[in-house]
Formats: sequence, C-alpha cells, structure tokens
Amino acid sequence: MNEMVLEARDVTRRFTIGASLFKRATTFSAVKGVSLSLRQGEVLGLVGESGCGKSTLANMLLGLLDPSEGEVLVGGKAISRSSPLERARRIQPIFQNPYSSLNPRKSVEDIVSLPLRIHNVGSASERRAKVAEMLDMVGLSRRYLDSYPNQLSGGQRQRVAIARALIMRPEVVICDEPTSALDVSVQSQILNLLLDIKDELNVSYVLISHNLAVVQHIATRVAVMYLGRIVEEQPTEQLFANPRHPYTEALLSSVLTPEPELGIPDTHLGAAFPNPMDPPPGCSFHPRCPHAMPHCSTLHPRPLSDGDRMVECHLYDEAAAQAAREPQPA
Ligand code: SF4
Repeated sequence: MNEMVLEARDVTRRFTIGASLFKRATTFSAVKGVSLSLRQGEVLGLVGESGCGKSTLANMLLGLLDPSEGEVLVGGKAISRSSPLERARRIQPIFQNPYSSLNPRKSVEDIVSLPLRIHNVGSASERRAKVAEMLDMVGLSRRYLDSYPNQLSGGQRQRVAIARALIMRPEVVICDEPTSALDVSVQSQILNLLLDIKDELNVSYVLISHNLAVVQHIATRVAVMYLGRIVEEQPTEQLFANPRHPYTEALLSSVLTPEPELGIPDTHLGAAFPNPMDPPPGCSFHPRCPHAMPHCSTLHPRPLSDGDRMVECHLYDEAAAQAAREPQPA
C-alpha cells in the first residue's frame, strides 16, 4: 500500500460571530469531527454544496487555519509543528479563480519562480531554466515567460497557477474548484493536465468541487460532505454505481440536470440547504431526506465503515433502528 501523505484526524473548526454591545456571540462548527486520509498517487474528491465546510476543511489541510480540535498531518508530521516554509514545500494550493490568484503586476517568470526564490533555490538563470521547464510541463509556451496575467486567457492563467504550485515538487496539492471559473471547453484540458502531471511528478491531490462530473473524471476516491460532516466515502466507481447516502443520490441526480453547475435542485430535496449556524437536530440532512425515519430527527447517525466504504446514515444502522423501536423508560 502506498505511503500516507496527508491525514486529518477528527478535525473540528468552530467560529464565533456576531458579538456586539447588544448581541451575544454565536458559535458554530463549520467542520465537525472530520477524518480523512490521502495516499501517494491518490486523488481524493471532496464534494458538497456551498456552505458545507469544504473550504474551511481545505484551509485546515493547507495549514492556513488551525483546527479547534483534532490535527492535520502531512507526511506523518503534524502540520501545526511544521514551519510555514516546510509546509509550503510539502503542500500547495491551486485556487478556483486564476484571475484573482495571480499578481497582475508580476510576470509569469516572477510568479512561477516565487517559491524557488523564497526557498533560495539556484541562481537567477537556473531559476529561469526551471520555470521554462515547468511551463513545458503545463503546456504553456516559453514565449510567455515575460508576459503578464492580463495578457493570458483564463486557461493559460490556470496553467501558470499550476506551474507555481508544482515548481517545488510538493507531495500534495489541494485543488479548490480548479476549473469552475473556466470556459467549459477549457475545463477538460485543465483536468487532463492535472492527471498527466500527477503521474509524472507522483503528486497526490485533494480535489474540492461541487460538480460530481469533474470529480468523477479524475478522483480515485470521493468523500461527500454535508453541513460540516463527511457523510459518505467510497472509491469513485463504486460511489457512482452504488451511492448509499440519500444526499449522494441527490447529488448524482443533479449531475443529470441541464445545468449541474447550479448545484442541487431544490425540487429533488424538498427543502433548502439549512443554515450552518443553526443545523437541524439528529441527522442534519433529515429535513431534506426522502427516506427520513422518525428517529432521524433526534439521533445523530454514526459513521459505519465496511472495507473501503463509509456511510453515516440510519438506513444502514440496524442497531440504531432497533434502539428507536424499543420503548423509552417513562
Ligand atoms: Fe435520511 Fe435518516 Fe439517513 Fe439522515 S439518517 S440520510 S435522514 S435516512
């Protein structure tokens, strides 16, 4: 089995908002007790609607946000005990929007070589040669070395962002919606590029997306997130062939709508996405779930693992159903 490169152990992140002279502060958990792991060469897809906690989790995986509880390990070492430089060498992000993630006043060479300069790698000419090699790898002509972001198309800018993320040969890249700001015609080119580079550099990805079609294209495993929890995880083929959690079923049916990028149509679920600051009791999906049972609104489902599958749903928990059937003491 390949080496573990990234692990989140039972991580929770709470935020406190709204404290003022006349209002008491409210604390809510954007991510609640999430565990996940990534082995060398894997692509873990992380899917869910806006507000489900994907970006908060991504920021904790990158070491940009400390967990309130639990820990994140990169290469077996707690990220909280790594220096920012060590972290940046081992794990890198690729963000959604190549229009805002690149400094418009810097040339392509400046942007891509920044990590090399920060880590004091090579002379100026050696760095320029490395950047040129990296541009070859991401399919961008070397004639763009001295160009500025506003002279490039969206797809070319995302290639620059990928080159910058990979120039230090990190073990892990967190790709946060890497194609959603791009034209449909360019999206598959960028996904295929990420796949080619993965094999060439032996890098592993966490791919965050609300679009299951994107995740199906390159992920080896998929974790489905709902209101701060991972509610299902399976190898990609199995998840698409046999989704177990009702929320995953709804996500898959949204892929079949004409505009899947709009997210899950409410018509499939009957109720809107709940307020993360005031989550429903019991299973937080119960107000929208077509299979909800009476105990779903009071009892939080536990994670049920079975080989390489995990689901958090009472439909698969006979013990919880039995306990719910038993008369409660007066
Ligand atoms: Fe639906 Fe109940 Fe399963 Fe939640 S626990 S997803 S409400 S069946």
